[in-house]
Amino acid sequence: MNDFVESAKNFVNSAVSRTSWEAQKQLRVRSKQSEIDKLMEQRTQLLNELAQIAMQLYQQGKLVDPGLSRLCASMMELDHDVNNRNMQMQEIKKENYPADQFAPAPTSSYAPPPVVPYTQPVQPGMPPTGAAPQAGVRCPNCGNELRPGALYCRSCGAKLR
Ligand SMILES: [Zn+2]
Repeated sequence: MNDFVESAKNFVNSAVSRTSWEAQKQLRVRSKQSEIDKLMEQRTQLLNELAQIAMQLYQQGKLVDPGLSRLCASMMELDHDVNNRNMQMQEIKKENYPADQFAPAPTSSYAPPPVVPYTQPVQPGMPPTGAAPQAGVRCPNCGNELRPGALYCRSCGAKLR
């Protein structure tokens, strides 16, 4: 009988300590997670800074790396699209009731321009006319097809205007 009471008590004790052990574990996991979050936050800040510096160099025409130029060009194109959309949104907000009746429907499916995967630029001296004939303007620098109204080549990063 005594043994039974003792073992029941032990069982309860071990159940409690297991619960508190689990709670401790949760706390330790959460504390590590918050440390990771802080580190990642700093990393994001540094990445933003890196991007700003790269963008400045790109806009000054000092960026020589084609891969970086391509990313900067894609970013410029995205910013350009964002500015466009902002202006369009302001126009929509300015519309008055009678205009609303004839207002066009909202854009149903806008997909941002995809980032073109990096391709090796055409060797200098080789005319970029080797590509299959296709409608659309091509980049004078690398020969990749440009989307309509492109300001920058998203393949090589060349400024087009
Ligand atoms: Zn190009």
